[in-house]
Amino acid sequence: MSGGILAIFAHPDDETFGCGGTLALHAEAGHRVGALSLTCSDAERGPELRRAAEALGIEEPIIFPEGSIDPTSELIRRVSDVIVDRRPSVVITHLPFDYHREHRAAHELVKEAVEWAGHATIYEDAWVVERLLLMEVNTLIPSPHVFVDVSDVWPRKEAAIGAYASQLAKFQWGYYQDFMEKKAELRGTQGGCGYAEAFLVEPLAKNSPFFPEKATRSLL
Ligand SMILES: [Zn+2]
Repeated sequence: MSGGILAIFAHPDDETFGCGGTLALHAEAGHRVGALSLTCSDAERGPELRRAAEALGIEEPIIFPEGSIDPTSELIRRVSDVIVDRRPSVVITHLPFDYHREHRAAHELVKEAVEWAGHATIYEDAWVVERLLLMEVNTLIPSPHVFVDVSDVWPRKEAAIGAYASQLAKFQWGYYQDFMEKKAELRGTQGGCGYAEAFLVEPLAKNSPFFPEKATRSLL
């Protein structure tokens, strides 16, 4: 089964804070929606991610056990293996200008893995991802390209945020809940709806000689 959305992110909670509503919305519409966490630094964060995924109604997440991101060829290959296996139409990851060093590292790594997944020289069943979207976790996008109306699934996103007790406890006054709601309101105002999530579209180069299909006969 191919298609759908795969979110690939640095830490458990990034998927919920950055694109939880979008994931829940597409899962509810019957699409295949998955999540891959590149790290899992503390014992409690794996179970929290699984609870968040349940609240969002998406597939059981894939969790790499690393404590931090070391963007080696081996790690890129493990990520491209997941992409080839999962065959998503859309991949969502971090911004290249995110304030968090590991989010920036994840962006670089995921972009590379998306490229590798499409190489017929690496994979017999190479897979070319159609769209790479970049989400905002705590760093905001100055001029978003895409707004997704997540009003209908907002309670699911709230429930998923609530699954991250270990992270919410760092800010007892409710920083994360407040920030996520105000961010969604801001994006909703811009998008002409109630609550929204915003993304940038990262253009994907398809000029590699290693791609199975390189040319098109129609732009429409
Ligand atoms: Zn993070």
